[in-house]
Amino acid sequence: MSSTYRIKYRPNGFTQFIGLKPILPTIESIVRRKRIAPVIISGNNGSGKSTLLEILGRRLACTAPIGLDPCNACEACRSLDIRRGGVDVFAYSGIELSRNLISSLKRDLDFYPMINSIHTVIIDDLDHGQSSMLNHLIRLMEINEEMLFLFTATRLKNIPNPLLQRCMRISLDNYAPESLKAFVRHISELEGIDLFSETALEDLIELSDRNPRSILNALEAIKDNGLSISQSALDNQNVRDNLGGDVYE
Ligand SMILES: [Zn+2]
Repeated sequence: MSSTYRIKYRPNGFTQFIGLKPILPTIESIVRRKRIAPVIISGNNGSGKSTLLEILGRRLACTAPIGLDPCNACEACRSLDIRRGGVDVFAYSGIELSRNLISSLKRDLDFYPMINSIHTVIIDDLDHGQSSMLNHLIRLMEINEEMLFLFTATRLKNIPNPLLQRCMRISLDNYAPESLKAFVRHISELEGIDLFSETALEDLIELSDRNPRSILNALEAIKDNGLSISQSALDNQNVRDNLGGDVYE
């Protein structure tokens, strides 16, 4: 599985993020901290939820933001990693949630000196956490209402309702075809890939299950095989393998 385009075209800010326009007001209210509610970003693998989580975490910790976007240059931005945390940010993955970890997080939240105005707790793949741990987490959230909790999840049905109901929800599963078309055109132009047929472009988007990661992988395979965006590209096995290849990994 190729991954160069995925790294090359990883957005660094909300404004570069495809298809985010409809939810920018929500993002803005989180960023401006008009209301500190836990946020849960849901979507299939490859929909960009971890990337969005990282941008959000960076923006909230950023000391020199550029409008809605993080600067990506200050210490807080550079140090943030959604697996390891950063300045004023605690980060975990759902699967590693344990009683010990939640207790140590509780201690950290009680005693850790705040450098910026708020602490953020990031948990990627919250739906991989055991339900008993998620119940401990709810209690932790109740006693730390001034902390901002940011989560991602693929399957919301694995999250207990009391937790879900507390969260502001952002879903990345319904990218508009028009946004994805604009995305394909943009990448194709930058990579010098010919757009031979509009129908093939639409088919490419549907075959990807409207998944940005699959689209990038397919475009890379199209380029590697010297093809254009055409029916014959969609018939190419290597392109097909990349379309939707790891959506449900
Ligand atoms: Zn910054």
